[in-house]
Amino acid sequence: MSDVLHATQVVIEQALKRLGYGQDMIDLLKEPMRLLTVRIPVRMDDGSTVVFTGYRSQHNDSVGPTKGGVRFHPGVTETEVKALSIWMSLKCGIADLPYGGGKGGVICDPRKMSFRELERLSRGYVRAVSQIVGPTKDIPAPDVMTNSQIMAWMMDEYSHIREFDSPGFITGKPIVLGGSKGRETATARGVVIMIYEALKIKNIPIQDARIVIQGFGNAGSFLAKFMYEAGARVIGISDVNGALYNKDGLDIPHLLDRRDSFGNVTNLFPKTISNDELLELDCDVLVPAAIENQITEENAPNIKASIIVEAANGPTTLEATKIISERGILLIPDVLASAGGVIVSYFEWVQNNQGYYWGEEEIDEKLRIMMIRGFENVYEIHRTRKVDMRLAAYMSGVRKMAEAVRYRGWV
Ligand code: GLU
Repeated sequence: MSDVLHATQVVIEQALKRLGYGQDMIDLLKEPMRLLTVRIPVRMDDGSTVVFTGYRSQHNDSVGPTKGGVRFHPGVTETEVKALSIWMSLKCGIADLPYGGGKGGVICDPRKMSFRELERLSRGYVRAVSQIVGPTKDIPAPDVMTNSQIMAWMMDEYSHIREFDSPGFITGKPIVLGGSKGRETATARGVVIMIYEALKIKNIPIQDARIVIQGFGNAGSFLAKFMYEAGARVIGISDVNGALYNKDGLDIPHLLDRRDSFGNVTNLFPKTISNDELLELDCDVLVPAAIENQITEENAPNIKASIIVEAANGPTTLEATKIISERGILLIPDVLASAGGVIVSYFEWVQNNQGYYWGEEEIDEKLRIMMIRGFENVYEIHRTRKVDMRLAAYMSGVRKMAEAVRYRGWV
């Protein structure tokens, strides 16, 4: 996965150059300032011990503490975690949050682990990284295959280590432990707001919009629900096993009902199409909401959507971005489109720090304002500086951090 890091570094460099910064700033911001690798021994249910490898990457803390999720996935690598932490900086910059970017990961397959094994792994991870994380240092959150239960164990472990209740150490917690209303649906809500903005630009009414969503995890499944409820036609969805297609619109409530907790549903249906076919379906809005490197040089020329909204992190390669922009497809890049999660995480942290909690409507409205402001800034840079939407998003995302670095006198 070293290509995702390289692809990010290329665009960071272009963005900083466009903003007038020199090689010193590029050298600092194209790599994380800190990367911790940990080994986590976990006693398994059968009495054996398995030693897992985990990471925490902190991109840059000039703006404030670093912030970003922890993923549990067999494909986690050091370079992927590094790239993901840089993307978190960009999301926080675009949304104007007082954070830098961080990210963590553990190489494991939660689908093959018991509840208790997962608890021991989650607690072990926190013990291993405890020295470099904390409510004013680096604040973890859920990511691929981690959820509010895992956040609860991690928060509990951290509170034990520090010997005081520390809800602000981690976000994405269950509501009863200081989680925020609206956090679970936040990424999808943010994507919905971006789809509406893009449809406005392309003059497509929501009732006419045909949506294809790749991935049926947290972001993809809630997005399908919200789009269906808004009256759009969700004509394609997929999970790791395959994809479903119906040109008149899929029965989303039925699919949500049958989906398991890891987002699997297509295995229940005899007639499926492949993930590759899904991406090339005739539709208006394509939402990659799964994993990295899905839209590539090979399939980008065949994509029929007029709008691509990246709900996943890094779904489109550098070469594919170029093809998409040249073909006039409106791209809402990941660091903007998927910022809803970290925005509501920020609200959760603010509520934890002040000990006063907001209602769901207040959260949704604040999220809407921040997403639209983020979109307008990026779109404005895209138009006035004549750069593609990804470079515009990077310019918007890195600007505040570079300024903070300057003021601190680091570069
Ligand atoms: N893991 C999410 C992301 O990639 C959320 C991070 C957070 O809430 O801190 O944006």
